[in-house]
Amino acid sequence: MKTKNAASTIAKKIKMIIFDVDGTLTNGRIFMGPEGEAMKAFSARDGMGIAMAHKAGLKSAIITGRSSRIMSRRADELKFTAVYQGCIDKRGAYEELKLKFSLKDDEIAYVGDDINDIPLIMQAGLGCAVGDAVPEVRELAQVVADAQGGNGAVREIIEFILKEQGKWDSLVGTFIGKKPVDGVGQ
Ligand SMILES: [Mg+2]
Repeated sequence: MKTKNAASTIAKKIKMIIFDVDGTLTNGRIFMGPEGEAMKAFSARDGMGIAMAHKAGLKSAIITGRSSRIMSRRADELKFTAVYQGCIDKRGAYEELKLKFSLKDDEIAYVGDDINDIPLIMQAGLGCAVGDAVPEVRELAQVVADAQGGNGAVREIIEFILKEQGKWDSLVGTFIGKKPVDGVGQ
């Protein structure tokens, strides 16, 4: 992982993590059938990371330009706090989230992979890129994962945030029988 500027200071303040879908929660490949999108592959480790973020009290959201029942199904499984699909310009959904949950830019992390993510990577307090994001996105992000989109990058970024917040060890402890710290539910 590469971090720059005040990434670790900002990570401590994060209350919501927003994710792009294609290329971020997936490797970007879209399997098309006659009915439209037929398959996408998600990472179970990313899914566990999102569950850990929720356990730590963080909120989560998806803002994607595409729209599919596949994503709706995955979003139901992972219990994202909010889901915005079919967003040509992602900034509208971002502003809605800020308002709805009374968040400041500095309390939001945004994870993306392509040029349509640039406005939110620049606006969110913690702009994050998956390892195989396009060069422009990697250049502008505060945090660049080593892992690729759909293959652990989201997990890596969540772990970074939760470790900076001092929550990761106690969350892992809940799986090995140690008593969790107050405020970090099982
Ligand atoms: Mg994308």
